[in-house]
Amino acid sequence: MSVGGGSTIVSPMKKNTLVNHPPAVPVPPDNRPLVAPIYQSVKFSFDDTGETLRYLRGDREGFFYSRTANPTLQQLQLLLAQLQGRDGCLLTGSGVATIAASLLSLCKQGDHILAFVESYGPTRYIVQHLLAKYGVAHTLLSIEDLEGIERVLRDRPTRLVVFESPTNPVTKIADIEHLTSHARRTGALTVLDNTFAGFHNHGAYDIDIFLHSLTKYASGHGDVMGGAIIASGELIAAMRKDIVSMGPTLDPHAAFLIQRGMRTYFLRYERQCANALAASLFLKGHLRVKHVFYPGLDTHPQHALARRQMSDFGAVVTLELDGGFEEGARFAEALQLFSISASVGSAESLVMPPQLLAGGEYTPEQRAASRIARGTVRLSVGLEDAEDLIADLGEALEKAFI
Ligand SMILES: *Cc1c(COP(=O)(O)O)cnc(C)c1O
Repeated sequence: MSVGGGSTIVSPMKKNTLVNHPPAVPVPPDNRPLVAPIYQSVKFSFDDTGETLRYLRGDREGFFYSRTANPTLQQLQLLLAQLQGRDGCLLTGSGVATIAASLLSLCKQGDHILAFVESYGPTRYIVQHLLAKYGVAHTLLSIEDLEGIERVLRDRPTRLVVFESPTNPVTKIADIEHLTSHARRTGALTVLDNTFAGFHNHGAYDIDIFLHSLTKYASGHGDVMGGAIIASGELIAAMRKDIVSMGPTLDPHAAFLIQRGMRTYFLRYERQCANALAASLFLKGHLRVKHVFYPGLDTHPQHALARRQMSDFGAVVTLELDGGFEEGARFAEALQLFSISASVGSAESLVMPPQLLAGGEYTPEQRAASRIARGTVRLSVGLEDAEDLIADLGEALEKAFI
């Protein structure tokens, strides 16, 4: 012990050097943190050039530059791949980055994509506009058009079938067995944006590539964006160089937040599904509601298919009011517990009035297929108490129609 003045550690470096070479704190190998630290470091160093070269040639494990690989991301990649039942995963900074990066990597000029009217808007944009610029052709069908799907896959060499289930916003269910069997027979790869159904659903089907927006149920708290591409290790390896070269990777701090969100993923998803079912049962019995779209309702036209394909039915409930834009906006504005906002899968409930769902780029036939009407309102049901949510929905319906 020093006498007076406390103990001092004398560094041989000048202080302005020291701040750039801070003391290392090695944690003993038998002394692990229960929550993995955030590797908020762009660069990783080996002791010498030889080991660095061995890493760069793929002859040893390790990390070098976080655009390519980072331990915090790797933990999340392993977890999400296992949950979805595959052995490869790449993470990106948003959900749409997974769509753009994977489709760009998987297609070349002259290829043909089968996509669907009911798909997420930016997915349609990427297929119809971005990939079209590079000479990738597409056919846009309704996800309900099973004959059309068979015909296109039979008659036209197709590289990718890109789809969603349940669809946004009216929760149509894709017949996955039908799609994958025809795609497999004709050599097309299937890409399922599985954001709505979640990592615990659809893994047993013969899907080649799963895409997820981690911004939704994975992070769960509406405070971070991310995306995951999940496929066989072989397919991921084939896409890795293309995708890493486009540079869409997730930041380690965002990966940490998503990893933390995943700890409560099942609890949240289960509760949100239960709340969504309770809300949809209430809405179904209401005079001012023409239709309720929720795959968990036995009145949903594809309820039997949803039961076969999914272990639960998600937290998006869409209703068609017995009214139009005006009633839809009044209803959304009268809700106290649902915020008017984009996105789904947050802890708090959200509502999209019909004005925001309208999607101006549809032809009249596509609009009819989309089933989005002037009174369509989408709810993303959160973690609040079901009784409070139902009371709020009931009061807002009263207010919307006075
Ligand atoms: C939100 C969403 C996306 C895009 O995700 P971002 O993280 O917002 O970029 C893609 N697909 C579906 C089905 C979504 O709901």
